[in-house]
Amino acid sequence: MFGGRYAQVTAVRRKTGEIEFFEVKKQGQPGLKWLSKIPLVRGIVALVLASASGAKHLQFASDMFERDHDEEAESADETVQENQSSSKWGMILGVAMVGILSLLIGKMVFTALPAFLASILFDRFVHSMFLQSLIEGAIKTILLLAYLWGISFTPLIKRVFQYHGAEHKVITAFERGEELTVTNVQKHSTLHYRCGSSFIILSIIVGVILYSFFTYHSVWDRILIRLALIPLVIGLSYELLRMTNAVKDIPILAWLGYPGLWLQKLTTKEPTDDQVEVAIAAFNRMRELDAQAEARLANGVQRTTPAFN
Ligand SMILES: [Zn+2]
Repeated sequence: MFGGRYAQVTAVRRKTGEIEFFEVKKQGQPGLKWLSKIPLVRGIVALVLASASGAKHLQFASDMFERDHDEEAESADETVQENQSSSKWGMILGVAMVGILSLLIGKMVFTALPAFLASILFDRFVHSMFLQSLIEGAIKTILLLAYLWGISFTPLIKRVFQYHGAEHKVITAFERGEELTVTNVQKHSTLHYRCGSSFIILSIIVGVILYSFFTYHSVWDRILIRLALIPLVIGLSYELLRMTNAVKDIPILAWLGYPGLWLQKLTTKEPTDDQVEVAIAAFNRMRELDAQAEARLANGVQRTTPAFN
């Protein structure tokens, strides 16, 4: 999936070999437009929108996968397909909500569990607030790595991570001004500096620093404070992500983005040539749609927000 200024495109390879696109044009939601300009708030808006659209694009991919499987079992039933397309928009709204809900629940579990474990295991021995916060961050990191490592063995997630690697390769090739052919794209690394993975690491670091300013009196106290701070942690991490993107060419400051690159060693995998081909197709289609939109709005609004992909 690629997100441009005006359009998001997901491409999937069908069983027949052809590549199919799922395109969502970004509408200028007036309510969100001014929210997206306020520091701290814009990070929350971006994350919620990314979860909603991410879920929609994943749903499309798995629909295509299922349809291919059904077609394999017996030839496609026209009436079933018609029903599917008529309920598509209702489905998409529901899927977006599921995306946002799973973000919320995931965020709460990943916030509460490390706070709980750090309290149970270390409250008796460690009395420095900062050290406690650091231990909590370390537990969170271990849980995250174990989780990512664990799910990377399932065939579906493995493919998702391969496509993630393919996306990064395509972007790198494009940024270097190379022609987007499979050979050109494949020779690049699956790691890319501007990636949503960096956001996760940054939010752990922001948490460590922020939490050490808040005293608590019990485990539950601690967990509640952490949960209440989630919006602030997201907002600050996003601002930090924008900053690391802005300073990536300054030698020492570029280190700020390195933890995110290390995490990508787990969230990306080497794609096959076939997957790279699909990624190139999605990227080209996104560029096409963007160019069309740009032509329509001769003086298009500039967007410089980092993408979560
Ligand atoms: Zn990425």
